[in-house]
Amino acid sequence: MAKTPRMTTTAGNPIADNQNSQTAGPRGPLLMQDYQLIEKLAHQNRERIPERVVHAKGWGAHGTFTVTNDITKYTRAKIFSEVGKQTPLISRFSTVAGELGAADNERDVRGFAVKFYTEEGNWDLVGNNTPVFFLRDPYKFPDFIHTQKRHPRTNLRSATAMWDYWSQSPEALHQVTILMSDRGCPKTPMHMNGYGSHTFSFINADNERFWVKFHFKTRQGHDFYTNAQAAELIGKTREGYQEALFDAIEEGRYPKWDVKVQIMPEEDADKTSYNPFDLTKVWPHDEYPLIDVGVMELNRNADNYFAEIETAAYSPSNIVPGIGFSPDKVLQARIFAYADAHRYRIGTHYEQLPVNQPKCPVHHYHKDGAMNVMGQMTGARDAYYEPNSMGGATESPAYAEPPLKISGDADRYNHREGNDDYSQPRALFDIFDAAQKLRLYENTAEAMYGVDDAIIDRALEHYDQISVEYGNGIRAARARLSKSMAADAARQQDVDG
Ligand code: NDP
Repeated sequence: MAKTPRMTTTAGNPIADNQNSQTAGPRGPLLMQDYQLIEKLAHQNRERIPERVVHAKGWGAHGTFTVTNDITKYTRAKIFSEVGKQTPLISRFSTVAGELGAADNERDVRGFAVKFYTEEGNWDLVGNNTPVFFLRDPYKFPDFIHTQKRHPRTNLRSATAMWDYWSQSPEALHQVTILMSDRGCPKTPMHMNGYGSHTFSFINADNERFWVKFHFKTRQGHDFYTNAQAAELIGKTREGYQEALFDAIEEGRYPKWDVKVQIMPEEDADKTSYNPFDLTKVWPHDEYPLIDVGVMELNRNADNYFAEIETAAYSPSNIVPGIGFSPDKVLQARIFAYADAHRYRIGTHYEQLPVNQPKCPVHHYHKDGAMNVMGQMTGARDAYYEPNSMGGATESPAYAEPPLKISGDADRYNHREGNDDYSQPRALFDIFDAAQKLRLYENTAEAMYGVDDAIIDRALEHYDQISVEYGNGIRAARARLSKSMAADAARQQDVDG
């Protein structure tokens, strides 16, 4: 039999006994000098870090991205430099509202985050399984998230809060329609698409800018659970996603997604009937068709979930030369908020953790701070400021993006004014067949259950503007639900005698 490694303290001192604590006599008490016991208990106290405020429950795996089509006319990003090129990556999928212990198969939007370890630094695409979001102004993000989280007094989630907010935020109804459709409860993370959601930019070798949207189309097909199926499943396992993804990869059934982009010439942004930087809108496919880029495959489970998935830190601020931001206001806010969340949650130097470390040389002048294990990163022993004469790392002007023309007076602009919040959800509603519509109505009615009529009536006015058929479908489903709840209550009363 192979010799097992020697167990030690974290300082490397061999441990003679890991079964019995040191005591004064066999009955105790304990001795303060038993550092091995103290170290064990102290580490246990520190085994958790704060969970993410949103997207706490997640599942992920390592994989590769392979280029299948040449898009170098749009971008000089080296990840896309030649067909066949492979780049390692780590993905993390998540629900939004549930806490770390929440059940996987709950109706919710799913996070879809990918960190590509490119030769010019990490590129993080931190999207969702939906192409749009509930809001277009990040000023509303904390308010919206409060409606998804626990009520401060009841410590319960509140359907009233959700519908109170949504019924006064018509821009949310595009995303709410997706959430209440079949895609709001995918069977596993493998049965859903991913979307970068925001508009980003591509910069090519001639320094030309294009606007771009990223799409990841599942090769496993879309599959979903109804509310009733999900409830039954959750009664059996709360970890359906972890089990499905982990087992698929362990068994060599590697999930794949076709990666595609939509490209918009820079000057088109002023011509579209919708604001192409509005996160509540898609770019219709017939206007901006999908262009093939490559394939994402997940093929390796983490050896340690905590080290590789829980502390994986994705941020839309991580872009690489050839890929840039856009004026999308929500993207702009996330550029700050995500990196800031990781500094709080994991620590100042979260990007030194192996899972977050770029696989290319890193040189900067940030200094010190808790858990600095990187030492000097300036590229020269004596350089700790810049500019310096010691040969420390210097800037590379060749990577500058072309200037972006913007205009306008600084103000707080009403983001709802003049915005058509109904046409795009209508376009989606119109592609649903009768059975899909019925499930949409029923899921929406169930989500509305117990909320004051005044709030629901306000929401239904917006639904009517998407389509009267949609509004009336929800009304009818609400009536059916009330009837069946009343019948259940009467039956229960009979049983109780
Ligand atoms: P298309 O008919 O070309 O596209 C319709 C899209 O709807 C397809 O991408 C399809 O995804 C997707 N879809 C089907 N069922 C659902 C669902 N339950 N929830 C979300 N998406 C679904 O039309 P348009 O491009 O003109 O878009 C029409 C509407 O489709 C949009 O207003 C938007 O709501 C939705 N949509 C559009 C996307 C886009 O980028 N243009 C992307 C995703 C949704 P798939 O092909 O993967 O099955």
